[in-house]
Amino acid sequence: MAKSKTSDELVFLPLGGSNEIGMNFNLYGFGPAHDRRWVVVDLGITFGDSSTPGVEVILPDPSYIEDYADRILGIVLTHAHEDHLGAVAWLWPRLKAPVYATPFTAFLLREKLREADLLDQVEIHEVPLKGRFQLGPFDFELITLTHSIPEPNGLAIRTPLGTVLHTGDWKIDPEPLLGSVTDQDAIRRLGDEGVLAMVCDSTNVFVDGVAGSESDVRETLIPLIGQLKGKVAVACFASNVARMDSVCRAAAAAGRRVCLVGRSMHRMAAAAKSVGLMAGLAPFLTDHEAKSFPDNAVLYLCTGSQGEPRAALSRIADGSHPHVKLGAGDACIFSSRVIPGNELPIRNLQNGLADRGVRLYTERDHPGIHVSGHPCRDELAEMYRWARPQIAVPTHGERRHLLEHQAFARDMQVPQQVAPRNGDMVRLAPGRAEIIDEVPAGRLYVDAGVLTPENGEALRERRHAAHNGMIAISVVLDGKSRIVSGPEVRALGLPSDEEDTMEDMLDDLSEEAERALKRLSGEDRDQDETIEIALSRAVKKASQRIWGRRPVVETIVLRV
Ligand SMILES: [Zn+2]
Ligand SMILES: [Zn+2]
Repeated sequence: MAKSKTSDELVFLPLGGSNEIGMNFNLYGFGPAHDRRWVVVDLGITFGDSSTPGVEVILPDPSYIEDYADRILGIVLTHAHEDHLGAVAWLWPRLKAPVYATPFTAFLLREKLREADLLDQVEIHEVPLKGRFQLGPFDFELITLTHSIPEPNGLAIRTPLGTVLHTGDWKIDPEPLLGSVTDQDAIRRLGDEGVLAMVCDSTNVFVDGVAGSESDVRETLIPLIGQLKGKVAVACFASNVARMDSVCRAAAAAGRRVCLVGRSMHRMAAAAKSVGLMAGLAPFLTDHEAKSFPDNAVLYLCTGSQGEPRAALSRIADGSHPHVKLGAGDACIFSSRVIPGNELPIRNLQNGLADRGVRLYTERDHPGIHVSGHPCRDELAEMYRWARPQIAVPTHGERRHLLEHQAFARDMQVPQQVAPRNGDMVRLAPGRAEIIDEVPAGRLYVDAGVLTPENGEALRERRHAAHNGMIAISVVLDGKSRIVSGPEVRALGLPSDEEDTMEDMLDDLSEEAERALKRLSGEDRDQDETIEIALSRAVKKASQRIWGRRPVVETIVLRV
């Protein structure tokens, strides 16, 4: 029988996370094309960089699915990393579906919702590890994995048209220190049952071998911290609770007490304690207590390993931290990786610390003080052998990662591989997997607390001004549109020297503007907008001649 438009389909739609690392926002749809039911898997953010001046947080654009918000059955979170749950507090009001998460993830989500004043509106279903729940045609089973945060879950999503294994972020850590090991039996069983498609992490697809274990890091940190004199600071991601725990144990073995520095360290420690982790450790020192301890009896566990300007470590490096001072004879261990894009701020941070006389220990010169939380090629191969999917769908990576992962899956004899871009709707069943639609997908910027489109005017102007400078012109006209004063010109961010002084150049611009104004007919001069365009054109042209640049021009016409 021919497939009609009304028959059920199972589709996968990435709206974030498949193009640039971060911002995971995945949708699964089931039903006939005109009446699909949807589930959201993860809703994360990414962070701005020097290409987005003034924008710290970037969200996936939910416009497409917002139109079908009443058909979203639930938002399922795999784990508590920002690139998987950070956007919930921002975008939930547009999607308004119940949220499903395990206890540690739910604890951190509640904190965020409380800050956003949404806690009493969002229906949160706390699911136990290995839990199972039904959302319409989707039957979810959580599969315990290992990663760099407590409670990382893969999702077995059973539907009437087949089962998807959505891995979320994972690696195979034989000794994760906290939590259980990867539940390979559950994945194998799923493989026996039949996996239609595996949607899988691509972060480390270019890295041979395995990611390494948290227990290896602990083995490295204990002797390293043991041999250090003076004050010791360790920077790591607060969400890596196993790492925090290892640092605390290494500190204890070296006779040091730990002082947490940075808000997210305290928040994560509270979340960890809420689910019974980090038990049996000496209580943390307060800032005040740490000051009265001898240098070789204290260890500061800090946020800010990526050079974030307001985080603890940057403030320590520039000497502005209110409680923690590091200097000659002290040491700082970076138990973290360099996230691509953060190279420059991290270099500045490390130079700042080195300038104070602080000895640095990084992954580059001290291998073993950090391991990745994502699967390398041997681990990916293992996962494919366990799950044996019919279709491989790489996710969580840039384009080059996804395509390499696609080739890898082909080599692993996976019969079909599809590497969608954000916005590509992949039909997983029935029939061969293929991209059947392209829907709008993009990013939203949080700009001074306001959600703006990624090509919005404010940021475009700011970028333009950052590269080309800015010129303001004002002119005062009387009732008959005759010039009373001006045009007055001011420049911001444009260079001058002794020969070409700013004063001369501004006079030049002012004359050009005046000539342009005088060229206008009496009728045109009655229109403020016409005057603004004429002045702006004249000044841009003159700037091009003087500086070889076209600055942002702001024109003000006043009438008296
Ligand atoms: Zn992730
Ligand atoms: Zn993660």
